[in-house]
Amino acid sequence: MFPNSLQKSKKFVIFIMALFACASSLASIAILPPKENDLTSMALDIKAAPPSNIDIISKPILFDKERIKLTRQYRLEHYGIKSKSIVIQPRIIVLHWTGSKNLDSPYNTFYPATLKGRPELTKGGALNVSAHFLVDRDGTIYQLMPTNWMARHTIGLNNIAIGIENVGGVDNQEDLTQAQVDANARLVRYLKMKYPKIKYLIGHYEYGKFRHTHWWQEKDYNYFTVKTDPGEKFMRLVRGALSSQ
Ligand SMILES: [Zn+2]
Repeated sequence: MFPNSLQKSKKFVIFIMALFACASSLASIAILPPKENDLTSMALDIKAAPPSNIDIISKPILFDKERIKLTRQYRLEHYGIKSKSIVIQPRIIVLHWTGSKNLDSPYNTFYPATLKGRPELTKGGALNVSAHFLVDRDGTIYQLMPTNWMARHTIGLNNIAIGIENVGGVDNQEDLTQAQVDANARLVRYLKMKYPKIKYLIGHYEYGKFRHTHWWQEKDYNYFTVKTDPGEKFMRLVRGALSSQ
């Protein structure tokens, strides 16, 4: 009798433990609390003084009524923001590469109001992709649109992110130039001075780390693409330039 009941109670204990294990794993699936701790490596760390002057050439893309309407529509559909305004409060700067050899091709791509020929993005709406800045191989900085208007460049974060595109990265080659490193560092310092609440500097390939944090605003969990731009080396060099005196 006794060994039998012991065996039964052992089974009962295992059953209860299994229930607990199951319940706790369910709990970890169901509750994804916003996390901040993964993001520390991307916190913007600037030791150098803000630039005394910065050359930025204005090269606007088309921002007509249609683009404003599509931007408002994107904010509503993806972020649940119903507003006549397309103004954002920048908190993150995202660096990119264009995947092109020259400036004209990305500029011409960003210029129109509506998206053309990007099947992986068309389900996300007709608003064309863009960025706030485009940096040429020689470090020349072009501004394409106002820094506090929403650009479509980084899923989940567009409503709080300024985008800087860099000409280069054809076939994922990490070929961005030292002039681009210097220009990006200068531009980031300038933007941090303009918007002191900017908290993070990231490479586009790092944006997934924000997915389970309160910064992420995309409503469709499956709307996500894996990115490699602008390469780890470039991010290391830009961060190094910012954190040295
Ligand atoms: Zn990108």
